[in-house]
Amino acid sequence: MIKNYLKNTWEGLYTVFVGMKITWKHLFVPSVTLQYPEERAKLPERARNRLFLNYNDCIGCMQCATACPVNCIEIETVKGIPTDMPDPTSKGQKKALWVTKFDIDTGKCCFCQLCVFPCPTEAIYMTDIYEYSEFDRDNLVYNFASLTQAEVKEKQDNFDKFQAEKEAQKVAAAKAKAEADAKKAAEDKAKSEIKPSDDEIKE
Ligand code: SF4
Ligand code: SF4
Repeated sequence: MIKNYLKNTWEGLYTVFVGMKITWKHLFVPSVTLQYPEERAKLPERARNRLFLNYNDCIGCMQCATACPVNCIEIETVKGIPTDMPDPTSKGQKKALWVTKFDIDTGKCCFCQLCVFPCPTEAIYMTDIYEYSEFDRDNLVYNFASLTQAEVKEKQDNFDKFQAEKEAQKVAAAKAKAEADAKKAAEDKAKSEIKPSDDEIKE
């Protein structure tokens, strides 16, 4: 009876000792948990997160939107006119288009990064931002174009006017050419009528 009591007591103390040994050991091991959000894990070098567009470097070529498998990039452009062209990119590439709309619906984005590789100006790229949850899905659509509605209308009106003027010039040139051709034909006809025939010359 006493023997059992002592044996149970020893086993109890022994298991406590073993447990405490493990506990004490971990007191001196660095912690593996992070106190998020105060602490954050370092992201891998090629981590894919939220996209960003450097609007000033975008030439509106649409290659990113064409490559996107889920159609979550929407771009609209207006052609520049000689008197109102956009500034070149930061690397000096010329722009022919005003980018009037550049929206990315990050709620649809699958982070495949296929839009990043074809960009000729490196204007679109992944950031290290991964915390951007929203209650309203509409807030996940990011608008990067910086032109106001009034500026977009102005660019469109300028282009329409430029096109109309070009068209009018073409019509005027075609009309002038037709008139010149008709005049020349009339002159040629008149000359042929007053020119004597070979028989008349022989007589
Ligand atoms: S990462 Fe993929 S899904 Fe997201 S916008 Fe780019 S191409 Fe589209
Ligand atoms: S591929 Fe680059 S330059 Fe072309 S529209 Fe997309 S972001 Fe702009």
